[in-house]
Amino acid sequence: MNIFSYQQASDATSAITLKKAGPAAKYLGGGTNLVDLMRETVEQPETLVDVTHLPGDIEQRADGSLLIGAAAKNTALAAHPAVRSDFPLLSRSILAGASAQIRNVATVGGNILQRTRCRYFYDNAARCNKRQPQAGCDALEGFNRYHAILGASDACVATHPSDMCVALVALDAIVHLQGPTGGRSMPLSELHRLPGDRPEIETELQPDELITAIEIPSLGFARRSTYRKVRDRASYAFALISVAAALDIDEAGTVRDVRLALGGVAHKPWRATKTELALKGQVAGTESFRAAAEAELADAVALGENAFKIELARRTIVAVLDELKGENA
Ligand SMILES: Cc1cc2nc3c(=O)[nH]c(=O)nc-3n(C[C@H](O)[C@H](O)[C@H](O)COP(=O)(O)OP(=O)(O)OC[C@H]3O[C@@H](n4cnc5c(N)ncnc54)[C@H](O)[C@@H]3O)c2cc1C
Repeated sequence: MNIFSYQQASDATSAITLKKAGPAAKYLGGGTNLVDLMRETVEQPETLVDVTHLPGDIEQRADGSLLIGAAAKNTALAAHPAVRSDFPLLSRSILAGASAQIRNVATVGGNILQRTRCRYFYDNAARCNKRQPQAGCDALEGFNRYHAILGASDACVATHPSDMCVALVALDAIVHLQGPTGGRSMPLSELHRLPGDRPEIETELQPDELITAIEIPSLGFARRSTYRKVRDRASYAFALISVAAALDIDEAGTVRDVRLALGGVAHKPWRATKTELALKGQVAGTESFRAAAEAELADAVALGENAFKIELARRTIVAVLDELKGENA
């Protein structure tokens, strides 16, 4: 681990000022990802700006939408009564991740910006275009069981590891940012990038921009929603495939609306727009669910060890939609 200085920010303005002033500075949330990466010397910041004392309130507004301060702890968000009742997919996605102890210190902002778990990214002896641009990618011909099947490139096949982000993307969450020249907002689905030929650039954040809050618009039918994570171990493992979904079926059994996103499949949390489009207006049932899953996975590309994920993704989509259909009955 390199030597670094530590500063504590009291508000967004001071955080940005401290980060701009510090050489090779990084914001520090709970440190559960960043400090691991520093121990492995994958990240070597010279200054850490602690942003855990910034707002972390979770507020439900009169219209049912939620405003979540970026410093909110993962545990607090999963346990919040409004999240549990109105957005169960979000609560379940958080509880499917890490361990209780990690969720107690991990923040919402840090969870969104956690970095991939590709083992070649963590291994300084391996070639990784994300860690060292133009170095090559050992995952392409290596251990790639966990790697991407959608939106990958020859430069990078890593996946985004967050469970929470999959639910947030399904919910059309908005991310609020503050930078040296002011504030802005964007859909969370547009924050993370696909790798292309620049996998080291993972988000659309500008230098020194800080995540200050997440907003989740009201969505009545999200009360019937869930998150399913398929993994190698029942707990404390990252997703092979995960599905966050909400389903609204009318009295005639037709899909009125649907939200669906996938985890473990791409460099970013993957909103399954083709599945959603294929399902709207269809009679809800295993046949239409399977066809909608096929639509999303039609462009999937397998590597040496992860071909099983394509069929696993299809089956998990169908299983989740079947489960939600049962709840609609
Ligand atoms: C053993 C283990 C198992 C895990 N399993 C899972 C799992 O199954 N599913 C899952 O989703 N996650 C899992 N995680 C990851 C965990 O969820 C993340 O480490 C955690 O959410 C990161 O939050 P943090 O606050 O500690 O972030 P930090 O480590 O403090 O920061 C992460 C990144 O975010 C940046 N950052 C932090 N806050 C802000 C902000 N407000 N604005 C801008 N940048 C910011 C930091 O600079 C850093 O780059 C696991 C972690 C461990 C150690």
